Order: sequence, then structure tokens, then C-alpha cells
Amino acid sequence: MSDNAALSFPIGRRPELTELVEVAPGIHWIRMAIPIPGLEFINLWAIREDDGWTVVDTGTRSSRIQGWWQAIFDGAFEGKPITRVICTHFHPDHVGQAGFLCGRFGAPLWMTLTDWSFGRMLAAEASEAVPDYVVAFYRRIGFGEAALSFLGDRGFNNFARQVEPIPSQFVRIAEGDRLDIGGREWQVIIGRGHSHEHASLYCAEQGVLISGDMVLPKISPHIGVYPAEPDANPLKLFLDSLDSFRHLPAETLVLPSHGDPFVGLHTRLDQLAQHHDVRLTALKAFCTEPRTALDTMPVLFKRQLDMKHTFMAIGEAIAHLHYLVVDGSVEKFASADGVHRYRRTAIRADAA
Ligand SMILES: [Zn+2]
Repeated sequence: MSDNAALSFPIGRRPELTELVEVAPGIHWIRMAIPIPGLEFINLWAIREDDGWTVVDTGTRSSRIQGWWQAIFDGAFEGKPITRVICTHFHPDHVGQAGFLCGRFGAPLWMTLTDWSFGRMLAAEASEAVPDYVVAFYRRIGFGEAALSFLGDRGFNNFARQVEPIPSQFVRIAEGDRLDIGGREWQVIIGRGHSHEHASLYCAEQGVLISGDMVLPKISPHIGVYPAEPDANPLKLFLDSLDSFRHLPAETLVLPSHGDPFVGLHTRLDQLAQHHDVRLTALKAFCTEPRTALDTMPVLFKRQLDMKHTFMAIGEAIAHLHYLVVDGSVEKFASADGVHRYRRTAIRADAA
């Protein structure tokens, strides 16, 4: 199934659209197609409760996805209601249908405060016109007029278009919380860097981790810097967060949001850390001369990127550069043209 030979994928099959596949007693895998390039599917989880279902993550906003949900209500859910919606984080493929599901069943939304707030904020800030601070952010990166006009044409409502209105009320979950889901105890493990306060859920009794987007078997979770927090260092937060999963047993069954359920958590944590380490090393070598973030793209991304992907990828490039700025190996400065450049700091004898 998945092509990471160092991991094992014990489930052996994937659910068809609107089908539930039980991956551990009471825990069911739902797989939905989503219109996000490079992802294509999201995994959602339905955990059987005495009186209905707890659903973890929801899919992006679309009538097609609502149709699939309806088919699940009519079929696999056996007439039982959704009694709770948990969203691991605020990204549209996770929170996009929360408003629909919560509204349909009068079910509460459980999320972390930061991600619930940030999603609500992005939706509220949506506008046709791109705000000046956003244009200035991309100008400092070095984007020319063609790219800025692409940005202008796209508008500033990409997030809002992909989510049903996020419920106005929520139940807060936070690091270390122990939740009763399906009659078993699940522990909340917070991860940062991919989103601000991402909640993974771990059930020791069943040896199952719902990892969300923090640990994926095949792709490396997106780590980006965005205009709202231009000096962010999300890669440091992400790499530190990987350590929050190292105490879990090696045989843990990991249920990721993208890709297939797998065993081999520690191997995958090592692979992810190494993936970024390789890129950081390459960037350091490349920045012996002043470079813009755009200059670094071919170092990080081997294939040619179109404009849309360039805007996603540039955030990832800056995340790597900021990591190096904060750890002191690269300095960031504004050139006369106002564009930020990055240059290797003087190499110490002990740290080449
Ligand atoms: Zn995500």
C-alpha cells in the first residue's frame, strides 16, 4: 500500500467512500476525497459511543463531502447521531465540515483554544482584497509584480471558502487532558509547528494514536511561515514537538490524517527529523552568499512549481531559514531593495 518500506501497514485495505473500516475495536476509518493538491484524501475517525458517534476531523467544505456524510448517516452509522466532533486543528480539511456536523446533530465541537480561535479569525478576516500587510510580506520575500497580481486575483478568502462557518462555541481541549471517548481514556498530546496547537489523541489501552497531521507516513507535514506571524520559527516548534511522541510504545498503531495507518512510530519520527536536518544542512551550504528565500527554492524543492504551489512552498522555505536564523547559523537582513536576504554567519572553527 504505502511506499515507506521502514514502516508496516497492518490494515491491509482502505475504506471506499462512505464505508467504515474498523481498525481497532470501536475505532472506524473513514476516507474522503478532498480538493487539496498533493493530499487527495483525508482520513477521518469515528469512535462508537453508547449513544452515538464521536467523530475526529470532518473534511473540507463541499456539497460532495456533505453527500458522503449523509450516506454515512443513512448507512454505516446505523441511525445513531454524532454526539461530539473533535478537530485536531484548524486546517480546512479538518475543520471544514465541523459547522455542518455540529449543526446537524446539535453536537459540541471540541478543539484547542488556539486553533479554534485562529480558524475563526481567518474566516472573519476574509476579504476580496488582499490586505496591505500581506502584500508587503510577499514583497519583502522578493516576489515581483506578476506574482503579486496573482495574489491579488486570488483574493484573501481562500480559507473561508473551504470551511463551513466554524461553531461560535466550543469545548476546550489542552495538553495532557484525559478524555473519555467510547468508554476508554484518551490523552491529548499537543504538537506545534504544523498548526499552532494541534491535538493528537492517544489511547494507551488500545495502543492507538490518532496523530492528525503531526506524524504522517509518507509526506512530511507542511511547516510554513505566514504573513500573520512573519518572524515565526515553526520548524523549531515542530521538531521539538516530535519528542512529545517518543515515549509512546514502538508498537503503537498510528492513525494519520493522510496516508495509511501504520506501525513504526519511532522510525517515522526519526525520518521526519532527518528530512529537515538534510534540508537545513543544504540551506546552510547554499547561503554562503546572500540569498533570498525565492533563491533557495530549488535547493528544497526538486520539481518545478507553478505559482500556486510556489506560494505554499515559500512559507516552507522561510520556515527553514528562520530556524537557521534563530540558531545563529544564518543572518537575515533587508537589502536596499527592501527584500530580505539570508547569509551564513561567520563560520566558527568548531561548527562548520
Ligand atoms: Zn493540517
